[in-house]
Amino acid sequence: MRAILLTGAAGFIGCNLARLILRADPSVRLVALDKLTYAGSLANLESLKGDPRLIFVHGDVADSPLLERLWAEHGIGEVLHLAAESHVDRGILASGPFVHSNVVGTQILLDVARARGVRRFVHVSTDEVYGSLPEDRPDLKFTESTPLSPNSPYSASKAAADCLVRAYYHTYGMPVLITRCSNNYGPHQFPEKVIPLFITHLLQDKPVPLYGDGLNVRDWIHVEDHCQVLWELLNRGRTGEVYNIGGECEMTNRALTETILREMGRTWESSVRFVPDRPGHDRRYAMDITKIRREMGWSPRRRFDEAIRETIAWYRDHESWWRAAIQSS
Ligand code: NAD
Repeated sequence: MRAILLTGAAGFIGCNLARLILRADPSVRLVALDKLTYAGSLANLESLKGDPRLIFVHGDVADSPLLERLWAEHGIGEVLHLAAESHVDRGILASGPFVHSNVVGTQILLDVARARGVRRFVHVSTDEVYGSLPEDRPDLKFTESTPLSPNSPYSASKAAADCLVRAYYHTYGMPVLITRCSNNYGPHQFPEKVIPLFITHLLQDKPVPLYGDGLNVRDWIHVEDHCQVLWELLNRGRTGEVYNIGGECEMTNRALTETILREMGRTWESSVRFVPDRPGHDRRYAMDITKIRREMGWSPRRRFDEAIRETIAWYRDHESWWRAAIQSS
């Protein structure tokens, strides 16, 4: 048996990854750790209920004795580290939980993994650590050697964690690798993030709040594409490396909004409300994914136009899920 610790397993990407792993490899015992913050829910793992290979553990990634026990009981050999506070706007209101979970949590997990031993440690990070690209230079993209330049408490906490992971490789030779992915979308995303926020607002006949001039640019990737490549990297990524992951699907928030409105049969005039911009709002993110293409033979497979339609349908069909999520926050 191959014992994998997946942190943040009850969150958006974590639950999609748990499903993929248990489908992909029958020899895996998946130890799914999650603190069940407002963003995590056992309902996200409902479809795996009854699978004896999934062991759910309710707890904090910064709880060292708990982690020691998981290693002792399950012989953890590999780690996929996703647990984090993940919403930029919440980090602007209060950065304490971000430092606790994203920085201290990562340090404690690294320490236990180092002391107890691990064959592979994949740290899941974000394109946001690179900061913002200038609007008038569409030719520029983030590469793995772009200097870290985080602008929000969220991205600063993720960058701090990335630095720790890097340091544990160089100092102790830990078998780590870091992934930095662009904006994900798909089923089970908490309805505070822009795509499910807009879809659930429109399902309730409420206008969608668009930040600033709506011209901030993001790159979108379907969560299944992200999870597929995380699984590949766990299996055969190169130790000590950083890998950019992206959907090659850059668009302004305005264009994103137009697409959602069109798919849901709404007009701009009746459904969009401009709101003051987010403080320190990064203007543009764009990922150069040459390295992961070359080394892993991977590229994003899901097409945005089809996958956004499917995502809208998922939220339409799972009203009790998103209503419960909104109530829990
Ligand atoms: P999410 O907020 O949906 O899920 C995070 C999960 O972590 C939740 O289930 C939460 O309960 C859990 N958690 C938080 N603090 C914890 C702690 N101290 N101990 C144990 N569990 C804790 O986030 P997500 O979108 O699924 O993101 C997962 C990871 O991927 C994060 O590290 C995030 O930075 C990274 N990431 C996300 C995106 C994206 O677009 N969603 C893009 C790139 C990278």
